[in-house]
Amino acid sequence: MVLRTVRLKSSAEQLPDMTDLKPYEKYLWSPKRDDYEAKEIPEDIECIFCAQAEDDERVSKETVFEDDFLMVELNIFPYNTGHLMVVPKRHVNSMVDLKQEERNRLFAMVAKVEELQREVVEPAGIDVGMNIGKAAGESIPHLHVQLVPIYEKDRGFMETSLDTKVMKKTIADMKEEYQERAEILEDYW
Ligand SMILES: [Zn+2]
Repeated sequence: MVLRTVRLKSSAEQLPDMTDLKPYEKYLWSPKRDDYEAKEIPEDIECIFCAQAEDDERVSKETVFEDDFLMVELNIFPYNTGHLMVVPKRHVNSMVDLKQEERNRLFAMVAKVEELQREVVEPAGIDVGMNIGKAAGESIPHLHVQLVPIYEKDRGFMETSLDTKVMKKTIADMKEEYQERAEILEDYW
């Protein structure tokens, strides 16, 4: 078993700080993770989502669905099992910079992704959010909507006693499961 830990800023006990909403300090990757290596991003890539949109082969892209306007992809550093992101391909970093039709189209897809997650991972709830600006926890300054499934049993021994998040499935397995039901997303617009 390979342990991979990602140190986040706060633990669940410190949640009141609204800029630090990620509830776990560490992840435990329970599936076999030997084939997973985070790639270094070349310096000349200014925006990872723009590079993905342009099919730059130097960046990985775990898409479940893609068209000329947006990408639906797995977050390779998921906050929880089945974490998906909806990313418009055009580089904007504000809701204001999207045209009305683009906003409608983006959120039509967010609703479809909710439907996909309900079908595939059967979460107890889904945390939907955007981080606009560094003060709001933004890691990539290119607008994207995160959909993080929340499960009934998210507060097990590992989480409550060891402050460690258990990832139930690999990115590859999760991607395959979503892709099998990707027809849910196809008629979003
Ligand atoms: Zn960009």
